[in-house]
Amino acid sequence: MTPTESVAEFARRAGAWLADNMPGIDPASPPAAPRDDERSWRRARELQKRLYAGGFAGICFPREYGGLGLDYEYQRAFDEASLRYEMPLILNTPTFTICCATLLDTGSEEQKKQHIAAALRGDEVLVQLLSEPSGGSDLAGVITRAERQGDRWVINGAKTWSTSAFAADYGLCLARTDWDVPKHDGLTMFLVPISHPGITLRRITQVNGSTEFCEEFLDGVDVGDDAVVGEVNAGWAVASRQLYHERRAVGQGSEFASGSGSEGGHTTPVDYADLAEKTGQADSDRVKEMAGRALVHRAVAEQLIDHVYRSVRDGTLPPAAGTLIRLFHAETVALEIDTALSIAGAAGVVGQYGEGLQTGFRYLSRQSVAIGGGTTEMARNVIGERVLNFPREYAADRGVPFNQVRHGQER
Ligand SMILES: Cc1cc2nc3c(=O)[nH]c(=O)nc-3n(C[C@H](O)[C@H](O)[C@H](O)COP(=O)(O)OP(=O)(O)OC[C@H]3O[C@@H](n4cnc5c(N)ncnc54)[C@H](O)[C@@H]3O)c2cc1C
Repeated sequence: MTPTESVAEFARRAGAWLADNMPGIDPASPPAAPRDDERSWRRARELQKRLYAGGFAGICFPREYGGLGLDYEYQRAFDEASLRYEMPLILNTPTFTICCATLLDTGSEEQKKQHIAAALRGDEVLVQLLSEPSGGSDLAGVITRAERQGDRWVINGAKTWSTSAFAADYGLCLARTDWDVPKHDGLTMFLVPISHPGITLRRITQVNGSTEFCEEFLDGVDVGDDAVVGEVNAGWAVASRQLYHERRAVGQGSEFASGSGSEGGHTTPVDYADLAEKTGQADSDRVKEMAGRALVHRAVAEQLIDHVYRSVRDGTLPPAAGTLIRLFHAETVALEIDTALSIAGAAGVVGQYGEGLQTGFRYLSRQSVAIGGGTTEMARNVIGERVLNFPREYAADRGVPFNQVRHGQER
């Protein structure tokens, strides 16, 4: 890579390299890569190693941590060029777009050199250990505790809904280190090795049969000071950054994602014309109108990503505006899946058509996009309070030491 290489030159060089080095695919039916299957993760690591060896890993990550230090335009050009090739897409979220992005903003120099570089080489998968059985929206209310014992931190508690933790090497784990101060002030973020003998990991079976989510029980998990991300008791600053990156990632607007194709067909956009044709409704005005409405939302969602990215970068919008794309993405996906199911009708539940049954199957997990990365209700709160500057929601625990906050008690 020469410093003066234009986006077009970079795209041409990437296209030639991809043709020689990455397996070709039909973007309309990419090879299955179920996120709950260990083999998908082994394959993703292998493909990531190829990208790294070829000099195309981490296009927007700084060079000193193994990336290329280039602008988003280069990443988008690469994404476009890579659509016809098998890519390690499952590494994007949460490893690159959330965990590495957060370490880049808040980690120590050693953590960046170790973990971002290892992830870009295809040697490390990182996940998020934030939500707890007692609740995920009130993230600052976590009750997993980390206590100082000698020169170590000992962590005890439980985490849940951890996407792909079974395949991971490290988790960003938020724990309470001070109970005598208000909830946001007593938290610390730790980088915890998932293989630690004190972690018991179980997989959760979802309604669609996927076992990607995990729950972890942490029992005497000891780590050193080098595991602390940011400062002790300043974990909320790290978590906030993590949520910022997560909202952008969930809204498909992160410059740290590599490749924009569909993950094993799971996120393939609905082909309304094909669905209408296969269900014998190609001439229906009602179907065309419904599909048109969904497609307009899809087009606006795509434009919004670009608009918000640029506006946050030039300061026209505050960083919390990333939540706009997260919210609109969730609404668009819900509308698209509802529309597809309405068109498919009975074929979405029984029948011959792969496309029809696939639509019904996707409907089962329709709601997850409105929950993962923080719920859409919480996204509306963020937009109201931090983009539109409305008054903050009342909170009975604001400013109260955490050990004096009433939890689930009767009045
Ligand atoms: C696809 C997916 C991936 C996920 N990946 C991870 C992961 O990798 N790591 C991880 O730690 N967690 C993960 N989660 C968990 C996710 O972060 C939580 O499910 C989410 O934050 C909501 O928490 P909860 O489920 O405990 O719901 P609760 O917090 O119990 O909320 C219940 C309901 O109350 C609403 N609510 C709560 N508080 C308010 C409020 N103040 N104002 C308005 N409404 C409110 C919520 O919107 C929700 O509808 C994932 C979830 C999904 C679906």
